Amino acid sequence: MRRKIVAGNWKMNTTPAEGVELLKGVAALKSTAPSDVELIVGVPFTHLCGVKDAAAAAGIAVSAQNCADHESGAYTGEVSAKMIASLGAKYVILGHSERREYYGETSETLNKKMALAYANGLAPIYCVGEKLDEREAGKHFDVVRAQIEEVVFQLTPEQFGSLVIAYEPVWAIGTGKTATAEQAQEIHAFIRGVLAEKFGAAAADKTPILYGGSCKPSNAAEIFSKADVDGGLIGGASLVADDFIAIAKAF
Ligand code: PEP
Repeated sequence: MRRKIVAGNWKMNTTPAEGVELLKGVAALKSTAPSDVELIVGVPFTHLCGVKDAAAAAGIAVSAQNCADHESGAYTGEVSAKMIASLGAKYVILGHSERREYYGETSETLNKKMALAYANGLAPIYCVGEKLDEREAGKHFDVVRAQIEEVVFQLTPEQFGSLVIAYEPVWAIGTGKTATAEQAQEIHAFIRGVLAEKFGAAAADKTPILYGGSCKPSNAAEIFSKADVDGGLIGGASLVADDFIAIAKAF
């Protein structure tokens, strides 16, 4: 049995105080969700300290949404993997399409971030996914394969063992358009096959692959019912505690 995960990506939303309230709302409802679903909240850096204790008490894991590509030093405005880990986070989202698109993140940058995440005990949630024109041109398999080969294939088998992958078609993020459950299953199975080429079928079979892109209470059950979909990376709907928990209940 693979791990089931529902991870929220709060993006650049909520003040730290509002974030603590949101976390408390999720914590209060957590017992209504299946106990075998791991809940993760991906919070802004400024919230890590504030949500730490309440999240730990509730058994909710905390993730950052990015980390620096350097260990420490004169990198004004950056936040290191070590700083994030020291505030109790267990995960870091890396390679989100918004970071690739607006902040020019490349596979080269991401390889450095992945290495630093692992060196500091953080498990990456590595995002892949194609843009609309790439899907329309039938290139989505090639795009996703390249995003995996250039970054995930650089990991050691041990590092790979704690990796979480999120497939997020860019055309579905924040647009209200969701991939159909069949589209999600098709590419999740493809991703698992690519992972198996490098790390073997047994290791690939253990890797959680999450779907992200306008996932909400009304469509989560159908998407999560697919064999290779192990949960979701949730943006907008993770900002409402009831919706986030309703998605976790969709398993
Ligand atoms: C995301 O950005 O990770 C995401 C899935 O966003 P949304 O759910 O809002 O589409």
